Amino acid sequence: MQPWRGRVRLVLVGTEGEINLGFIARLAANFAVDEVYLVKPRVDPWSDEVRRFAAHGAYMVDRFQVVESLDEALRGVELAACTSARVGQRGDVLRHPVTPRRLAEEIAPRYRSIAVVFGRESVGLTRDEIARCHLLVTIPANPEYPVLNLSHAVAIILYELWLARSGEKAAKPVEEANAESLERIYSLLARAAERLVDRERLPQVLAALRHLLWRCPPTAGEASVLYQLAKKLAKALEEREAGRQ
Ligand code: SAH
Repeated sequence: MQPWRGRVRLVLVGTEGEINLGFIARLAANFAVDEVYLVKPRVDPWSDEVRRFAAHGAYMVDRFQVVESLDEALRGVELAACTSARVGQRGDVLRHPVTPRRLAEEIAPRYRSIAVVFGRESVGLTRDEIARCHLLVTIPANPEYPVLNLSHAVAIILYELWLARSGEKAAKPVEEANAESLERIYSLLARAAERLVDRERLPQVLAALRHLLWRCPPTAGEASVLYQLAKKLAKALEEREAGRQ
């Protein structure tokens, strides 16, 4: 199989440190990231300090795109993977992560473009921001102290993506579902869930569905079966509702 040729967009949310930002620009150059988006940075992204720490990666600083929201930063990418040191319990479906290696070797190569999203040095990403993404990536580390410095976390994840983009990978035996078919299944199941699930539980159910589909993801054949079933389910629920009126 050919190495993965997808685009990688680095998304940094609310970055607070100039030194970190400089180091990250350097990493973006080291690992040939295509784009760097900054969502509401808390420092001047074009400061001398940032450029100094970017060293020969300073040209990446000139390419920084500053945006006002995570939605804007994710526009146009097929897969959004967010990152956190915090892993959830069984009931916390937002925090069931994959490793950077699994992201790079198995998940990212199915998409033409991916965004990797990193949080603030102080408080990381909010739950809403995590829910907005398709999946969560955690770098396994000492459970007593798993939180890495932001730029170090970026380095590890970009390194894994770099290996996957440059190396030869074993051929995959079956075709997997593509981004469009996952979206189609998700939106049908979401329509059904909206009719079946209590208002307060709905966000959790939608997040679970989303993360489950994108983490798996199903084979193309499984996706087609799931799509037919979801279509029938959504239709049956709509007919039932119409009959009641
Ligand atoms: N106190 C914050 C720590 C944020 S560290 C918190 O509790 O979330 C800053 C960012 O670095 C995180 O938002 C995440 O993007 C990244 N990061 C740090 N450690 C990580 C780890 N072990 N796995 C994945 N990302 C990590």
